[in-house]
Amino acid sequence: MMTNYVFKLPKNRIYEFLNSLIAEYTVYAPVEGETSRFERITDACEVQFLPNRTDRSLKSIFFPPEEEFFKWKKEKDGYVVTDSLKPSPKKLIFGVRGCDVRALDILDRYMMGEFSDPYYKERRKNTVIIGMTCDYPRSSCFCTAFGGMIPHHYDLWFTDIGAYYLVEVGSDTGMKLIDSQFQKATEQDIKRKNQRIEKVELEIEKQTKINLCETKHCSQKIKTSVEHPMWKELAEICLACGKCNFICPTCHCFDVIDTTNLDGSEGARMRRWDSCHLYEYAKTSAENFRKERHARVRYRVFDKFVFPVMRYSTYACTGCGRCTDICPAGIDIREILREMIA
Ligand code: SF4
Ligand code: SF4
Repeated sequence: MMTNYVFKLPKNRIYEFLNSLIAEYTVYAPVEGETSRFERITDACEVQFLPNRTDRSLKSIFFPPEEEFFKWKKEKDGYVVTDSLKPSPKKLIFGVRGCDVRALDILDRYMMGEFSDPYYKERRKNTVIIGMTCDYPRSSCFCTAFGGMIPHHYDLWFTDIGAYYLVEVGSDTGMKLIDSQFQKATEQDIKRKNQRIEKVELEIEKQTKINLCETKHCSQKIKTSVEHPMWKELAEICLACGKCNFICPTCHCFDVIDTTNLDGSEGARMRRWDSCHLYEYAKTSAENFRKERHARVRYRVFDKFVFPVMRYSTYACTGCGRCTDICPAGIDIREILREMIA
């Protein structure tokens, strides 16, 4: 990480800077509609400078809710298969928050690790990340339980320090984006940025009151809670709707579906997001091995805080709080954690 390279950009130059990026990259940035999300922008004035994370994460840019793998068609001499994988353009994502950069790191381990997914890999390659410090947290945020607002990997990182953005360079690619509009940051600018971060992180800690830093120890505690009465209590109120899975930036389960036309002469294979909360998720031709709702509630928590620690030595949660915000039953993942690690 090139922490020695710290610059500042006058705030009124941000639009010029973004438009110069749009000329070179396919740029995604936060936009607001019914929900705030990352969308492709073609002009800097479309960007919404939000104070904290978007309602939706980056996940669907790399892993869309539904996609076709290939098409097939019966021809005179046999079957012709056409792969739907297309070369992905050079992408740049502006305004990403720390929780979502961490989520992308986690998703990469699942989708490009032991089992490499060519569709995800193609979209993910050559992606430039420009992150941004939150101005204040949402009431559901708890990223400080996972190391705080600033992640380890980024190309550039912006922090609002008043009339300027303080800009930290995290990679050679990021360094190449620094042009003559940027000025060298002073000690005072860096101090201002540190104070800013400290203030916001303190607010998050106050509302979180969870310390998960001892990853192995906490994970072990959760692992031994298989018979905890809380799972059945939660199952009484959980609607098994799966919204918490779909909104989660690290959930990556999917179902593979084959479709054909009526005469069986052509068809396609596609995938669609799936959710471990749904009754059908664990249904096989032999049996449904997670029929009871409490087992599914428990599985989701284990798949965030136990299994990924065993496989990758990391949690698969970033403290973004989206599952808490969206749950129609008012289930708060922080309360589950407090109960488990108390
Ligand atoms: S489990 Fe909830 S808080 Fe954790 S990353 Fe997923 S949506 Fe965010
Ligand atoms: S969003 Fe809430 S109600 Fe729906 S499955 Fe998740 S925990 Fe259950």
